[in-house]
Amino acid sequence: MLGDELTLIEPGRCVFDAARGALAGSTGSYTQTLAQLAGLYGDEAAYATALATMGDKAVYEVTEFRPSTKAGDLIFGITRMVPGKIGREYFMTRGHIHARADRSEMYYGQGGHGLMLMESPDGETRVVEIGPQKVCYVPPMWIHRAVNTGRDGFLMLFCYPADAGQDYDIIGRAGGMRSRILDDGNGGWTEAPNTKYTPRPAGEVARLLDACRDGAGE
Ligand code: MN
Repeated sequence: MLGDELTLIEPGRCVFDAARGALAGSTGSYTQTLAQLAGLYGDEAAYATALATMGDKAVYEVTEFRPSTKAGDLIFGITRMVPGKIGREYFMTRGHIHARADRSEMYYGQGGHGLMLMESPDGETRVVEIGPQKVCYVPPMWIHRAVNTGRDGFLMLFCYPADAGQDYDIIGRAGGMRSRILDDGNGGWTEAPNTKYTPRPAGEVARLLDACRDGAGE
């Protein structure tokens, strides 16, 4: 039975305009320009060159429907990423682990082709390719970053628990993700080691795994 003081959230609807990469009825959005993504790419000279000509260009845009940030609620939205590379490295999102690291996420491909690069706390990587009508499951505890490996805009719908939050700094502290996604020279992609990567300290890995084991994150 609902308490008198409980105010219900109203049901909602958004319209996913795939052709324009827009989500009508959203509650918010943000873009990330190439200038805002300093430090992500391995080829610093290529990044500096690109910055001079297209630094203020949006690499990706996230548009979301966020009813609340309460446990049990959901946040959904779309990520739209333009095609491009810095040197051989494909455009990517900043990437994160969920602040409540035991929260998971799903991504549904709508347009273009790309992949989700995932990394476990102790540095194992997985790649899941995403294209139209392909659904990617990001389990609890995995750092995740989307990469546009195609020649067109990469468009996905995502959905995750509203209390998950994002910790972006976990990637920066390790010198990036363990792998980089590079052009293989044949129009495809290849996973290459990130030479700047430093494994997370054992204590940090243990804390993350403990949080998951307890079902905590509370
Ligand atoms: Mn996420």
